[in-house]
Amino acid sequence: MKTVDILIVGAGITGITAASILAREKNKTVLIIEKRHHIGGNCYDCFNEDGILIHLYGPHIFHTQHKDVWDYLSQFTDWLDYVHHVKAFVDGKYISFPININTFEQLFEKSFTKDDVLAYLEQKKIDLPEIKNAEDMVISRMGKTIYDKFFKNYTRKQWGVDAKDLAPEITERIPIRFDRDERFFTDPYQGMPEKGYTELFKAMLDHENIQVITGKDYRDIKDQVKFDKMIYTGPVDEFFDYKYGYLPYRGINFSFKTYDQENCLPVAVVNYPNDHDYTRITEFKHMTFQQHYKTCLCYEYPAPAKAEKDEPVASYPVLDKKSLANYLKYKNETNKLINVDFIGRLGEFKYLNMDACVKNAIDLCG
Ligand SMILES: Cc1cc2nc3c(=O)[nH]c(=O)nc-3n(C[C@H](O)[C@H](O)[C@H](O)COP(=O)(O)OP(=O)(O)OC[C@H]3O[C@@H](n4cnc5c(N)ncnc54)[C@H](O)[C@@H]3O)c2cc1C
Repeated sequence: MKTVDILIVGAGITGITAASILAREKNKTVLIIEKRHHIGGNCYDCFNEDGILIHLYGPHIFHTQHKDVWDYLSQFTDWLDYVHHVKAFVDGKYISFPININTFEQLFEKSFTKDDVLAYLEQKKIDLPEIKNAEDMVISRMGKTIYDKFFKNYTRKQWGVDAKDLAPEITERIPIRFDRDERFFTDPYQGMPEKGYTELFKAMLDHENIQVITGKDYRDIKDQVKFDKMIYTGPVDEFFDYKYGYLPYRGINFSFKTYDQENCLPVAVVNYPNDHDYTRITEFKHMTFQQHYKTCLCYEYPAPAKAEKDEPVASYPVLDKKSLANYLKYKNETNKLINVDFIGRLGEFKYLNMDACVKNAIDLCG
């Protein structure tokens, strides 16, 4: 029987941050069990067979408003000064995204001022008595033309259903900028770990109090470990044997292709709202600044919501009335367990950016 202070399930960014804090700042012994054969969870990156650094579960760009989060990670890595840019491929052109004054100029091929954009929106927005769904949310702010060109088909591809059948919250936070700010994220701290995420995580786990076991489901070895407390970052429904039903996720499949040329795309990520089956393509070299005579592109194909009990690998939680009601039942169960904490995207059934995962781990363990 192995004895540790803390057992952590899952070596994603949440579990790794928790382990690092507990080992270094609380002098606890920690065992992390990870069922995949690598650390890093969905933030894992690695070199492909051509030696190009790729993100195996889709592009991950670090950005945060929280100085404590940035400072914590900066103990373990330097940062590449990368500012994320995205274009949408619309009407045969690469167009600035999120929507800003440049977007209007590129789309309509004439010059716009801030007042012109405001006048356009005032004229085109559709007054609705009630915002019932994700489509209403966009057309009531931007009108049908912008909705049709940028959001309608992208949303259908992303979620597998029409925007009319999705909650308004899904499109609530789509920004429109009345300046020419082309940055995708406006957080004061953003960048890419200098040597990649996996190297950052290795540095965080490099402590005598931390042991990591990969390639093992915690359920297969939990009876062989004695611990005071568990931090569980796996799926909360799985922990309770799906007694209130499974919590649904929308999956993504990734296809990677290497090309014999230095670059293919104008920026790191291009959205394809209206063409092809994929939603977007990432060219990693724009984010990693890697010098290589070849380049690797990642194509994202949203997949049907996960089948019951399938592992929600790279996925977004489907947050609707039914799933949120079921989650609340699980949450109630978690509150009854005094020696288990549930955090992370799967433990909390929430879309969380990486910085929120780090923040939650700092708040729980710091
Ligand atoms: C396509 C995509 C792009 C994204 N891009 C960004 C971005 O640009 N910026 C950003 O900030 N965030 C981004 N995110 C969000 C980011 O991926 C998450 O914030 C982060 O991965 C969550 O980390 P986690 O540790 O909570 O979960 P995970 O990374 O999922 O880690 C949980 C780990 O637990 C393991 N596990 C589960 N069950 C068990 C078990 N029974 N036994 C042992 N191990 C188990 C899993 O294998 C997994 O490795 C993106 C997400 C997606 C889907």
